[in-house]
Amino acid sequence: MDTGFSAYAAEIQRLMTERTAGQPLAFVRTYGCQQNVADGEKIKGILGELGFGFAGSAEEADLILFNTCAVREHAEDRVFGNVGALKSLKRRKPGVIIGVCGCMTEQRPVAERLGKTFPFIDLIFGTHVLHRLPEMLHQVLANSQRVLLLGQEETTIREDIPIRRDGRSRAWVTAMYGCDNFCSYCIVPYVRGREKSRRPEEIYRECQGLVEAGYKEITLLGQNVNSYGKGLEEPVNFAELLRRLDGLPGDFRLRFMTSHPKDASQELFDVMAESRHIPHHIHLPFQSGNDRVLQEMNRRYTREKYLALIRCAREAMPDVSFTSDVIVGFPGETYEEFQDTFSLIREVEFVNLFTFIYSPRPGTRAAEMPDPISHEEKTRWFAELLKVQEEVAGKIGQRLVGSRQRVLVEDRDGKTGLLSGRTASSLTVMFPGEDGLIGEFAAVEVTEARGVSLRGRLV
Ligand code: SF4
Repeated sequence: MDTGFSAYAAEIQRLMTERTAGQPLAFVRTYGCQQNVADGEKIKGILGELGFGFAGSAEEADLILFNTCAVREHAEDRVFGNVGALKSLKRRKPGVIIGVCGCMTEQRPVAERLGKTFPFIDLIFGTHVLHRLPEMLHQVLANSQRVLLLGQEETTIREDIPIRRDGRSRAWVTAMYGCDNFCSYCIVPYVRGREKSRRPEEIYRECQGLVEAGYKEITLLGQNVNSYGKGLEEPVNFAELLRRLDGLPGDFRLRFMTSHPKDASQELFDVMAESRHIPHHIHLPFQSGNDRVLQEMNRRYTREKYLALIRCAREAMPDVSFTSDVIVGFPGETYEEFQDTFSLIREVEFVNLFTFIYSPRPGTRAAEMPDPISHEEKTRWFAELLKVQEEVAGKIGQRLVGSRQRVLVEDRDGKTGLLSGRTASSLTVMFPGEDGLIGEFAAVEVTEARGVSLRGRLV
């Protein structure tokens, strides 16, 4: 099938050879969440079809692309810093093409500010048009013109975009795009658009190909996977999608992220409990343990509803583990309200938490709310929260000493020289072993726990 990507290859190659000697090289740097990582793999897939090889650094590349994130101010600052640092490279190597894409550029004022601040950027495009990269690149090369293309959300999902995966044992598979929830602090619905689910047979086909290619862990991605299926011709919900994928033959793990507590269901827990391939682990962001704050966040569940979900999941899977996201210092949150977050952490006992100090995103409702607590104060709350989590993690770690875990070996830890792998509950275990185990499952006995950082030995 002609995907339309390779159609541009010869012409782009010809135009690139006017600028470079030999095969043109691209360098793609991705920031932010797994969805962005998955987009980065598609961008690399398209560039591969266009005849690009890949460079290990920006200095060696003929095309540099920053695939950006908009979720926190800090990530934006880093992009501005990193793009700014390329000014001298562009002076030394005027033929190099520099582009910025992703969630950050999907916000028109930010894209325009980028373009104004850095006149040497050749290409700026948003999340909805990455499949048009060949055409944009051609325009830059043929007309020596800057291209800015944003915000043209399509109603159909392109299934023909090639993917160049970063890993050989773990893969990301997009189940759905966008989000309809409009949590008051979050920019995602504005930059990634409304929810759109991929057809189940397309997801099945992709997962089947990955398992046949030897991938050992597949993570289904979506901002809110539990609302998968809205708008599909065939009524398939997320639990049913998992049930179908679990039927794939082979030895692999099937994970998913992110679940929204308002849409997680008993059916989902039951499918997980009965499955062969789905580890008993759920990433279920609670964000705050206080009902008033949750309401201000527009999360549409209460603390009680969240805790009830945890109980249901534990009833279905007594060995289930949880991870979560927490926001520290939401606008108007008081220290007393923040105590409810501590108590919820102690009650649930998460194996790991991703904690963030609130960062205002222009254009969201929360960015307009009064926020009287200073950043220094929030930093103190944050440090307290880490202590509470360390205490919880320490208890969980101790309980695991002496247990046998099936671990997917991911790599060798640079500091200790030990192999590092992940248990079904998504905990990291380090242990001595041969390189040949990387990318394979191994049975490991946990011999020591430092918090939830576990040490073990092969059994
Ligand atoms: S569920 Fe809420 S936090 Fe998550 S992406 Fe959607 S709006 Fe953002």
